[in-house]
Amino acid sequence: MIVMKFGGTSVQNTEMIDKAINIAEKQLDRAPLLISSAMGKTTDKLVAMSEFAVEGNAEKAFSILEEVKTSHFETIKSFLSGENLKFATERAEKLFEELSSLINGLSLLKECSPRSSDTVLAFGELLSTTIISARAKERGIDCTLLDSRQLIKTDDNFTSALPLMDKSGELIRGAVTPMPNKLYVAQGFIASNMNGATTTLGRGGSDYSATIYGASLDAEEVQIWTDVNGIMTSDPRIIPSARTIPQISYDEAAELAFFGAKVVHPSTIIPAVDRKIPVLVKSTKDPDGAYTTIAPTSESIGLKAISSKSNITLLEIKT
Ligand code: ADP
Ligand code: ASP
Ligand code: MG
Repeated sequence: MIVMKFGGTSVQNTEMIDKAINIAEKQLDRAPLLISSAMGKTTDKLVAMSEFAVEGNAEKAFSILEEVKTSHFETIKSFLSGENLKFATERAEKLFEELSSLINGLSLLKECSPRSSDTVLAFGELLSTTIISARAKERGIDCTLLDSRQLIKTDDNFTSALPLMDKSGELIRGAVTPMPNKLYVAQGFIASNMNGATTTLGRGGSDYSATIYGASLDAEEVQIWTDVNGIMTSDPRIIPSARTIPQISYDEAAELAFFGAKVVHPSTIIPAVDRKIPVLVKSTKDPDGAYTTIAPTSESIGLKAISSKSNITLLEIKT
């Protein structure tokens, strides 16, 4: 089986969702599990919503909520029909009702604990996967939607929780039977602690979810589908002439991620290492183009890439 993860820009609208499903459909014979992030910038908007609510600006918080609601319902209406339209509409309506009560709660309390923040941020992935699974069914694909909150168990470190791999593995293997011509869809980023409270794996954590599922199911490959052609020699937004690195080792990829290459979440590699699962980083916009394979070892060619982190303060203390 394989795990394929799609980031926010890769599922930002109907056209991109269909591109992502095309990619999955082409590999249906490999028993795929699709992990999705929230659509576009939804998580940033959920953060902004909570911040405005806490500041006492409920009006602004609810206007962002309306914006998010409108864009999700537009997507639902534009490419779903019949049972699939009904399923996605009812589920999204329920999710937006819950989200609205939570934002109301935050604006009354004027406080958002890490625990509440995780509950709010989870809505992005819950909505995107509702839509993606309904669209896959609409296109005639045998598809099952999973709930990562029931399958990935973590510690209580809200906002950047660590997975409990043994427990999660047991739950994942109990719920997923990978088979050719069947597509499973699950949320990236979200999980729950042993008491069932929603946790998240930290911003950008959907990559990590992909390798957690991959290691639990002994996947032959994990694919990270994003908006660039793999891990490059530097951030192409800063250095447009950056080139794709075709092969990189687990250690090198982890180090680059840790030092600011946000193309993969810094913890992504950890679950892949033990089982030596190759992690491929590919572009949804250019599926047949250049990509990176992260594997146990790679040819050493000296300097591979340059990464950067902004807003860093260096504190030097002398006795
Ligand atoms: P996704 O939403 O798919 O998870 P991210 O925005 O988290 O995507 O990561 C992709 C972005 O990472 C790229 O658009 C790019 O600007 C940035 N990036 C930073 N460093 C690198 C690098 N060395 N190689 C490729 N992309 C990089
Ligand atoms: N949606 C989450 C975020 O924006 C997780 C992810 O995209 O990986 O941080
Ligand atoms: Mg990311």
